[in-house]
Amino acid sequence: MKICQIPSSVGDGRSQQNLLSWLVNDSVAIDAGSLGILTPLDRQRLVRHVFLTHTHIDHIATLPVFLDNVYSLDEHCPVIHGSSDTLNCLQRNIFNDQVWPDFVALSASAPSFVKMHEIRAGSPVQVEGLTITPMEVAHTVPTLSYLISDSNGTVAMIADTSQPETVINSVRNLPDLRAVFLECSFPDELQSLAEMSQHQTPQMFARQIARLPAHVEIFATHLKPACDKQVQEQLEALNDPRIRLSQPGITYVFE
Ligand SMILES: [Zn+2]
Ligand SMILES: [Zn+2]
Repeated sequence: MKICQIPSSVGDGRSQQNLLSWLVNDSVAIDAGSLGILTPLDRQRLVRHVFLTHTHIDHIATLPVFLDNVYSLDEHCPVIHGSSDTLNCLQRNIFNDQVWPDFVALSASAPSFVKMHEIRAGSPVQVEGLTITPMEVAHTVPTLSYLISDSNGTVAMIADTSQPETVINSVRNLPDLRAVFLECSFPDELQSLAEMSQHQTPQMFARQIARLPAHVEIFATHLKPACDKQVQEQLEALNDPRIRLSQPGITYVFE
C-alpha cells in the first residue's frame, strides 16, 4: 500500500499542512483538502473514490474543483463516500447552486459528475483492492476515521479528534497493523484550545501512542501551520523513534 499526503503549499513551506488529503495507491483519496490542486491533472483523473472524514473546510476545500477537473463524457465518475451527516452537509452548503452547481442533481442525467455513497461506521467498503473501514471519532462535527487494509497490512488514518481511544483500542492488537496516521494539531501551551476544538496536543498524542506496539510506524499529521514548529519540537522531545511527521509529497510504502 502506498500513501501520500497531497501537498497544499505554494513556494517555500512545502511541509506545511494547510489542507488535508491523502492518496492511497493513486486511485483512492482520503479527504479532498488539496486533491483539486494536485498536478499534473492526470493524477486527479486516476482517483476513483474519495472517502471524507468530515466537512471542515481544510478537508473538503478543493472537492468541488476536483469534480470539475475530472469531469468526463465517458461513464466513469468519482464516488464520494461519507456519512449521511457529511453528504447532507455537502448538499446543503456546497452543491446548492449558490456556492457551487448542484452536481448531485446534474448527475441524475448522464454523464454524471459524481456518485454519492453513504457509509456507516463499522461497515467496511471494498474498493480498488482495499478494504476501508470507517470508525466514528469525537470531533466538533460528525467525523470518521478509516482503517485501510490490503493483503499486506492495515494502516489507520485517524482524523480530527481529541479522543482517538476507541480507534486505537480497536487497532492496537491487530497483527497486521503497519502504521497509524494520528493528528497532533496544537502545541501543549494551547491545550484548552485543543480541547475546545477537539484536537490533540503532543502530550495527548503521547498518551495515545504509548498504547501502540513498538513495530508500528506513527505519522503525526494536521500540525496547524501557525504553530507547526512548536508542535514539531514537542513531538521530537517525546524521543520516540516511531514518530515521524507526515511529509506532504512523500510516498510512504507499506509492503
Ligand atoms: Zn475538523
Ligand atoms: Zn482538520
